[in-house]
Amino acid sequence: MRFALATIAAISLSGCGWFVLEDQSTSPESSPADDELALPRAEQPAQCPSEGAAVQILGSGGPIAEGGANARAGTSYLLWIDGEARLLIDAGSGSFLRFAQAGASIADLDAILLTHLHADHAGDLVDVLNSGGFEGRAEPLAVIGPDGAPRFPGTREFLTRLLGKQNGAFSYNGGYLDGTENKPKLQVTEVKTQGGAGAVEGLFGPGDIAATAIPVNHGAAPALGYEIHVGDSLLFITGDQNAFSETFDGMITATRPEIVFAHHVINGEDGQPRGLHRTPAEIGQLAGLAKAKRLVLTHNMERSLSRIESGLEAIGASYDGPVSVADDLDCYAL
Ligand SMILES: [Zn+2]
Ligand SMILES: [Zn+2]
Repeated sequence: MRFALATIAAISLSGCGWFVLEDQSTSPESSPADDELALPRAEQPAQCPSEGAAVQILGSGGPIAEGGANARAGTSYLLWIDGEARLLIDAGSGSFLRFAQAGASIADLDAILLTHLHADHAGDLVDVLNSGGFEGRAEPLAVIGPDGAPRFPGTREFLTRLLGKQNGAFSYNGGYLDGTENKPKLQVTEVKTQGGAGAVEGLFGPGDIAATAIPVNHGAAPALGYEIHVGDSLLFITGDQNAFSETFDGMITATRPEIVFAHHVINGEDGQPRGLHRTPAEIGQLAGLAKAKRLVLTHNMERSLSRIESGLEAIGASYDGPVSVADDLDCYAL
């Protein structure tokens, strides 16, 4: 979005209209301040295409409310097929507004997939549902998410605490739990995560979409990544995970996915919260393991973006494919 880096390598990808960064070090008039950095960003269409499949990033940020040029919603993605938003993946803080800006509708969704229940991934879920309650959808709506652990309710309990008619914080929306009051019933699937060692779980398909939940290690938080097949395209969404996510490594190895969406939360320096997240070097190792055709960095934060040059270098040690940094509402056609 917003910065210019002097020496970043040109990044291109055929068939997807990728933005090629120019070396701006030779253009004094346009030289940025020394503390500004260029982010390699894919060229963006005016909106996601109305035909074919695309992934739109509703929220490209993290848990810290960062202002100015780095203001981003928390994690959220949409999978579009032929102009309909079919999957909502996470609904982090701020994604309610992005969901509306994207023109998505609860009525069109096949399912909501949750990677985990940190607020920057699920904080706006109740708002998205609240808005969807005005659409009059009758068909049940699948919700997939992780099981529980100390201090983390499982997905079913999480929804009950939010929406339950007896004791829910927003009990007036309790119709979502039993399909009454003109609300679609939420059909919840909880996936056993076991600190990333749980079994993978096929969710739905065959059809035009098939998805598999993959347990990952995200410290104390039960967490999932997702493998999604859309037609002939294969995608992986890492969710928040650290490098002790062997099940995910096994699933992604040599699959040649079209895109790996990886969460770029920390830089590689000391003092970063390594118990929860992959470093840029570890993201590069994952993308290299997958032989991914593209790597998209999202869940971006100031602490990771401010060192984007060293981050890209660390990624490049293990991965030589194209890398782009996502912004809110970016769209990646498949
Ligand atoms: Zn998290
Ligand atoms: Zn997060």
